[in-house]
Amino acid sequence: MHYDALIAGAGFAGLYQLLCLRDRLGLKARVFEAGGDLGGTWYWNRYPGARCDSESHAYRYFFSRELAEEWQSTERYPGPAEIRAYLDHVARKFDLRRDIRFNTRVTAAQFDEAEKLWRIETESGETCTATWFVAAVGCLSSANVPAIPGLADFRGRWYHTGQWPHEGVDFAGKRVGQIGTGSTGIQAAPVIAETAAHLTVFQRTANYSVPARNAPLSPEFHRWAREHFEEIRAIAQSTVNGHAFRIEERNVADVSPEECQRIYEAAWEKGGLQFRATFKDLLTDRAANATAAEFLKARIRAIVKDPATADALADIDHPYSAKRPPIDTGYFETFNRPNVALVNLRQDPIERITPEGIRTKSKEHPLDIIVFATGFDALTGPLLKMDIRGRGGRSLREDWKAGPETYLGLQVPGYPNFFTITGPGSPSVLTNMPVAIEQHVEWITDCIAHVRRNGLATVEPAAEAARAWGERVQEAAKATLLYDAKHSWYFGANVEGKPQVFMPYAGGLNRYRRICEGIAARGYEGFVTG
Ligand code: FAD
Ligand code: NAP
Repeated sequence: MHYDALIAGAGFAGLYQLLCLRDRLGLKARVFEAGGDLGGTWYWNRYPGARCDSESHAYRYFFSRELAEEWQSTERYPGPAEIRAYLDHVARKFDLRRDIRFNTRVTAAQFDEAEKLWRIETESGETCTATWFVAAVGCLSSANVPAIPGLADFRGRWYHTGQWPHEGVDFAGKRVGQIGTGSTGIQAAPVIAETAAHLTVFQRTANYSVPARNAPLSPEFHRWAREHFEEIRAIAQSTVNGHAFRIEERNVADVSPEECQRIYEAAWEKGGLQFRATFKDLLTDRAANATAAEFLKARIRAIVKDPATADALADIDHPYSAKRPPIDTGYFETFNRPNVALVNLRQDPIERITPEGIRTKSKEHPLDIIVFATGFDALTGPLLKMDIRGRGGRSLREDWKAGPETYLGLQVPGYPNFFTITGPGSPSVLTNMPVAIEQHVEWITDCIAHVRRNGLATVEPAAEAARAWGERVQEAAKATLLYDAKHSWYFGANVEGKPQVFMPYAGGLNRYRRICEGIAARGYEGFVTG
């Protein structure tokens, strides 16, 4: 079978890419999705407490006002079921399902230089060809289960949060061990603790968290969001991070220490990621950041009653927001429960998993269930799981051995007509992602239209353009405190053997959008067509 375009992945990115290529360009497009249904992140991540931390009036598509009129979220931060229902509504409205094949994982794709097309292979051994190959495989879709010795011998059950069983997990009466205290672990622990007999949280790196303050949305809010659709969209599309709030124009030093505390208090009460937006220098000035860090650490100490546990939770080794900042619902309060314990792995590291539980240096922790909230092989992982080969049989796995090299996070030199949506080198995970996804999908669609309109067959970046972009990506990161947290997954530090390179573009979605628009306006500068 030949398609004009083959898209891998049916999350926010793949669905909109299908719509654009099929309905706007009239291409014969098809989506292959590894999962059993659409939803992407929200199909796989059904762990207890899972919900988004972008606010629902911004965590959506903006391309259709009509769509926005038709859908309203019930809560400030919807959970997986509601987001899946939203995406299902999108798929039905635009009749997308007829061009999606589920349970179909792309395992290999090779560019045929003579025919100028991609030869694509799926897990079942089926093959097809496509002129355009778009990887909409997500940044956070490749679960990372750390290679802790002994897991195979564990007699209980274990689960990774990113591959959570659809039927759920019954924790009642069970001794549960949770490894990981990132955004996922911080969401999961309070909910697991409610039903488990006992929960032990194994913490390697202590983390900041701000209360989410999730709540049902009122009819007044829905009316406001409908009436202000254009304004919300304009803000989301013009800010650094794609959220529907602006970062304050002031620096910490512009206000008195008392005023600074009042601002933090108010942001804490309001809850959510907007805490980051209180001052514009929080991510660029160490002293400014330290004021936020100290405020948040003091909150942990005020909430957690046991001083040793509070110390371990507040012993945070990186600037606030230098790793992806979580938001929570009762996370620190959970450690006041009699059935919850914290193990500080910095002092008492895991030695191995045993048939009965987890053995740390000081003792054995007997467990019935282990929950790996250990994150993802982010950004490059889902791409490199496929054997992607470009000109002359060159392999993406080989080419990216020292780290990813892309032009704009959209294309890779030597891999014509292959696009990545929110690929490494684009703002991606540093943003409210549906907004970044829309920008990428529309840019890719315009680029393909340009190639076709001009009677050309292929487009790919010049090697020099990709090299120069790679340098800009590193410079942008170095200008922020994100570069200080070398142990974050932005650097690939969470996956053993992964090259340590800062992967997303930290220069801001607004600036990035202008760069992409400028490049297109100048006749796709830095790209080579054939
Ligand atoms: P995904 O949703 O990851 O979809 C990719 C799809 O590709 C998956 O369904 C996968 O099965 C499929 N796939 C992968 N490889 C292949 C292959 N080889 N062949 C076929 N199919 C394949 N972002 C925010 O902006 N705000 C949030 O609040 C937020 N919360 C999050 C919460 C969690 C728990 C996680 C894990 C991520 C969160 N994110 C959030 C990031 C989230 O991934 C994006 O918001 C968004 O869902 C990404 O959409 P996507 O389509 O690019 O990728
Ligand atoms: P994560 O941020 O990478 O956190 C993984 C956690 O597991 C970290 O605490 C990490 O410790 C720990 N860990 C990993 N390997 C370990 C090992 N071998 N031993 C002990 N601990 C280990 O992953 P995540 O929490 O799943 O979040 C990933 C991203 O998904 C987030 O940053 C965010 O972008 C998105 N997300 C968003 C939400 C939301 O609220 N909307 C919810 C979940 C996820 P170290 O820090 O020491 O590496």
